[in-house]
Amino acid sequence: MSLRPSILDPLFAPVSTLTGVGPKVVALLDRLLAEPNRPARVLDLLFHLPHAGISRALKGSIAEAPPGEAVTLRVRVVHHQPAPFDRPKAPYRVLVEDDTGDVSLVFFKMPRARIQQLLPVGTTRFISGKLEQWDGRRQMVHPDRILDEAAFAALPTVEAVYGQTEGLTSRLIAKFVGTALGTLPAMPEWQDAAWLAKNNLPPFADALRAVHQASDAPPEESDKNPARRRLAYDELLASQLALAMVRNRMRRLPGRTNAGDGHLVDALINGLPYSLTGAQARALAEIRGDLMADKRMLRLLQGDVGAGKTVVGLLAMASAVEAGRQAAMMAPTEILARQHYERIGPMARAVGLEVALLTGRDRAAERRATLAGLESGAIHIVVGTHALFQEGIGFKDLGIAVVDEQHRFGVHQRLALGAKGESVDILVMTATPIPRTLALTYFGDMDVSVLDEKPAGRKPITTRLVSNDRLDEVVAAIGRAIQAGQLVYWVCPLIAESEVVDLAAAEDRFEDLKQYFGEEVGLIHGKMPGREKDLAMERFTSAQTKILVSTTVIEVGVDVPAATVMVIEHAERFGLAQLHQLRGRIGRGAASSTCLLLYKGPLGQVSRARLETMRETEDGFRIAEEDLKLRGEGEILGTRQSGLPGFRLARLDIDGDLLAAARDDARLVMERDDRLVSERGRALRVLLYMFERDAAVKLLQAG
Ligand code: ADP
Ligand code: MG
Repeated sequence: MSLRPSILDPLFAPVSTLTGVGPKVVALLDRLLAEPNRPARVLDLLFHLPHAGISRALKGSIAEAPPGEAVTLRVRVVHHQPAPFDRPKAPYRVLVEDDTGDVSLVFFKMPRARIQQLLPVGTTRFISGKLEQWDGRRQMVHPDRILDEAAFAALPTVEAVYGQTEGLTSRLIAKFVGTALGTLPAMPEWQDAAWLAKNNLPPFADALRAVHQASDAPPEESDKNPARRRLAYDELLASQLALAMVRNRMRRLPGRTNAGDGHLVDALINGLPYSLTGAQARALAEIRGDLMADKRMLRLLQGDVGAGKTVVGLLAMASAVEAGRQAAMMAPTEILARQHYERIGPMARAVGLEVALLTGRDRAAERRATLAGLESGAIHIVVGTHALFQEGIGFKDLGIAVVDEQHRFGVHQRLALGAKGESVDILVMTATPIPRTLALTYFGDMDVSVLDEKPAGRKPITTRLVSNDRLDEVVAAIGRAIQAGQLVYWVCPLIAESEVVDLAAAEDRFEDLKQYFGEEVGLIHGKMPGREKDLAMERFTSAQTKILVSTTVIEVGVDVPAATVMVIEHAERFGLAQLHQLRGRIGRGAASSTCLLLYKGPLGQVSRARLETMRETEDGFRIAEEDLKLRGEGEILGTRQSGLPGFRLARLDIDGDLLAAARDDARLVMERDDRLVSERGRALRVLLYMFERDAAVKLLQAG
C-alpha cells in the first residue's frame, strides 16, 4: 500500500488519463518516458524539460534571412503552382514575396484544398521554417507555421524544443505538456518562505510553467534562470532530506563505545616501517573519537590514491578489537580483498590478532572454519568481498565495518552492512577524489576525514602523451625499462560497452608483446577465474613477469610499489578520474615513475585538453573537477551501473552551489521536526514523494 499523499495522484497517473491522449500517443510517450517498471506518467511529462527554445520573432526580410536557419518572415502570397498533370508526384509550390525577394514554399503530398485555404493569393502571411537555397532559388519545405496576422500576434515568440521521439514532434509534446500543466494540483509550499523571497524564487507550479515556456536566451543565462533553479533546489532538498532521515535514524539507534585503551593501535604503529603522516594521525584521532562516543559512526575517509588509507582502516579496526569487538573490511573485488588481507594479515598477527579472508570462492572447509571463527569470536578481523554480508554469516560481536572504495557499492549495501551488528560503526574509504558537491549528494551529511597529504618521499610521476603511431618506440622504451629492473603495467582500453571486445584487445596485445619479451609478459583481466588472477598478480609482484597486460581490473587499489612504468592505450577513451586511478598504481615506491598515455590521433580540442590536464597535474581534486565539467556526475561515481537515483531537474555542474544550502536546510528540518509532522513537515512529505525519495518516509513509520 502506498502512503503517497493523494494530492499527488493526478501526477502519478499514467499519461493516458490526460484529455486528448489516446492509445497511439500513449505508446509514443511511453517510448519517450516510460521506465521498464512503469508507464509514462503525467509527472514524467512535466519533468521532461525543453532543452532549447526557437525564436519565432520576425527575422528581417527575405533578402537578409540567412539560408540554413529557422526564420520567421512576413510575406505576401503571389502565386500557386500545383504539380503538373503528367508528374503528380512533383511538389505543390507556392510563391511568396516581400519587398526584397521571393521564396518558394514547397509541399509534398499535402491536400491541395488545405494549401489553398492556408495561403490565399494576395493575403499577408507569417511563415516560419528553415530557409534553403536550391537550384539558385530560396525555398522552404513544409513551413513549421503558416499564420495570419491575428494568429501570429497570439503566438509565443519563443517555442520550446523538447527531446523527441519518432512520430512525436516537439510541438505535440508541448501541447501535451500544456494539458499536463493544467492538471497540476494545488500543493502546499514546502520551502521556507523567507528563503524563497531572499533568493527571488517563484512557487513550484509557477516555476514548472515557466521552464516549459522556453526562452532562446544563451545557456549561461537559462542556467541561472530562477524558475529552473527553484526546481533544482526542490529536487536537491528532497534528496538531502532523504539522506538526512536515513542518517538520523541510524544515529538514533543506540551506539556504544567501540574503542579501547589504544594498546593495539600503539603496538601496530610501532611496528610500521614508516611513521604516519600528519593527515593519517589526524584522521585516526577523528575516527577514534567517533568510536569512543556512544553514537554510531558514519564517516568517510577520503584520500587521493596512494595517500595511505589502508593503514588507517587497519588502525580503526584494531581500536574496535581493543574494545572486545570484531572488525570487517570489505573490498569491491577479490584481488583487492586478497591484497588487503596479505598486507594487513602479517601486521595484525604480529600484535596477536587473528585475521581471516572471506571471498566468494573459498574452499568449503576453509569457509566453514572462517564462519565458525566469526561466530565464536576467535577471528578478530575479517577481510572480504560482498560475500561478507550474505545471509548466514554471523559475527559474535561486530563493532566496525570498513568499506574500501565505496563508490563501487550502492547505498543499499552500506545499509545492509549496518544491519549485521546491533550497532556497527561504519568507515567508508574512498580513493576517488570526489568533489565536495558530489560527496554531499551521495553520502549526505556524513562526517568526513581527509588525507590531504601524501607519505613523504614520493617522487612525482612523469606523464607523456604519445601518439599510437609511435608504438614501436614505446615497445623499445619498455624493453630498456625492464632491463633496468623496472615493472610495467600495460593497460588496454575499454572499448564500447563490450567486455568481450576489451578482452580481445588485451589478449591481442599480450600476444604482440610476447613476441618481443617472451615469458616476461603476463596477462590479467576481469573474466579470468579468481585463482588465475591471483597467480598473475603474484608473478608480477614477485617480478617473475615484468610486464602485466591488463584490462582496467587494476584500476582500483592494487599496490605493487616496484611497478614504475604504466602504458595506457587509447587514453583518450578513458575518463580523467579513471586515468588518475590507473596512474595512481605507479609512483608508490622510492624510484621515479613514468606514465605513457597513448592516443589515437587526430585528437579533438576537448580530448587534447583533457589529456593535457593529466600531464600537468597529479592533483586528484583538480582532475576530478575537470572530469565533472566534461562528463557529468554519474560517470565519475559509476552510478549509472549501481542504480542510484540520478537527478531529473538539478544539474550538479551548475546547481552544485545549492547543494550545501539544501544540506543545511535538511539538517535544520531534522533538528526541529524529525518526524515531519509540522505544517512544513507535511508539505515536505509531499516533496519527498514527488521526487520518489519515499523510501526515507517509510523510516518514519518503522522507527
Ligand atoms: P590508498 O590510499 O591509495 O589506499 P594505500 O593504503 O594502498 O593507499 O597506501 C599506499 C602505499 O603507501 C602503501 O604501500 C603503504 O604501505 C604506503 N604508506 C602508507 N602510509 C604511509 C606513510 N605514512 N609513509 C610511507 N608510506 C606509507
Ligand atoms: Mg586503497
